[in-house]
Amino acid sequence: MARKAVLHNETSEALSEVGRRYAVAVTEDVYATINPLDPLDPVARQYMPSAEELKTTPRELEDPIGDDAHSPIKGIVHRYPDRLLLKPAHVCAVYCRFCFRREMVGPKQENGGKSEALDAAELEAALDYIRAAPKVWEVIVTGGDPFVLSPRRVKCLMEALNAIDHVKVIRFHTRVPVADPSRVTDELTDALESDKAVYVVLHCNHANELTDKVRAAAQKFLRKGIPLLSQSVLLKGVNDDAKALENLFRKLVEFRIKPYYLHHPDMARGTSHFRLPVSKGRALMKKLLGRLSGIAQPRYMLDIPGGFGKVPLEDGYCNDGVVTDWQGETHVYQDE
Ligand SMILES: *Cc1c(COP(=O)(O)O)cnc(C)c1O
Ligand code: SF4
Repeated sequence: MARKAVLHNETSEALSEVGRRYAVAVTEDVYATINPLDPLDPVARQYMPSAEELKTTPRELEDPIGDDAHSPIKGIVHRYPDRLLLKPAHVCAVYCRFCFRREMVGPKQENGGKSEALDAAELEAALDYIRAAPKVWEVIVTGGDPFVLSPRRVKCLMEALNAIDHVKVIRFHTRVPVADPSRVTDELTDALESDKAVYVVLHCNHANELTDKVRAAAQKFLRKGIPLLSQSVLLKGVNDDAKALENLFRKLVEFRIKPYYLHHPDMARGTSHFRLPVSKGRALMKKLLGRLSGIAQPRYMLDIPGGFGKVPLEDGYCNDGVVTDWQGETHVYQDE
């Protein structure tokens, strides 16, 4: 019933086509936060497939942030000298309709040429790459979602990373605490124990996603001494007004989660209905200034299409559609 109501405007043929192109999954916990009578529900919009995804625009890319160009070996993206991404899993608990890796994540990719999952030998090879890269101070474990892995596999991964002297910080990027909080078990948080600094960055875009159950899951990490940060994506129709952002960031801080980044949406294919102009995002951030505690303010970031890294969308880095990357190179960025 609820599912039908949320999808009321869509034809089934269009949705089947979306399902053939992109992975679709929603958990019961996420369903419970959706108001089926509200056609504009901000949680439903993030997860429920829509015929609008069949539309692609000329500037949209299969690999919107240019990860492939910086992947020296399967499962690693090494763009900055001191840190890299390690992607042991390619599946998620839920599939976000705006995902920048939407062409690489999901169960369907398993048998296709683009499979992102690492088998044991590939994971070992990725770890060897890190072992041989002494400048790598931080390993960012992402995916897919690394907390879809069993606690046993997370533990094996932690043991390998714990044994690499030059790695001082291990950071996990995940949507599991929000999308599937029951997966945050004692076994999982035990597996994260380390003498190194371990951080968890959770992905959340609307205050309605932050239920008591999510709060309880988040506290489990904190009790282990693991600080929590958040990343959000600025999305048209989900959180693109000052009040929605204020409510989200306040609630995160109340949950003891520090808002870290607010990402401008990426040029992923079939996501134009979520994008908004950078000027609008900058105006929203200005509205929050002063009215919202400094500890509740994330940095508004753009991942420059083509693999040039992230840039804060602030004066000094972003002027009249030209952004300056961390190496001082300038790039034209056009909204669409
Ligand atoms: C986003 C990203 C990081 C992390 O960037 P921070 O600004 O440190 O959060 C690291 N490596 C790659 C390849 C990335 O895309
Ligand atoms: S959980 Fe992350 S990787 Fe998975 S679909 Fe959502 S945004 Fe993409």
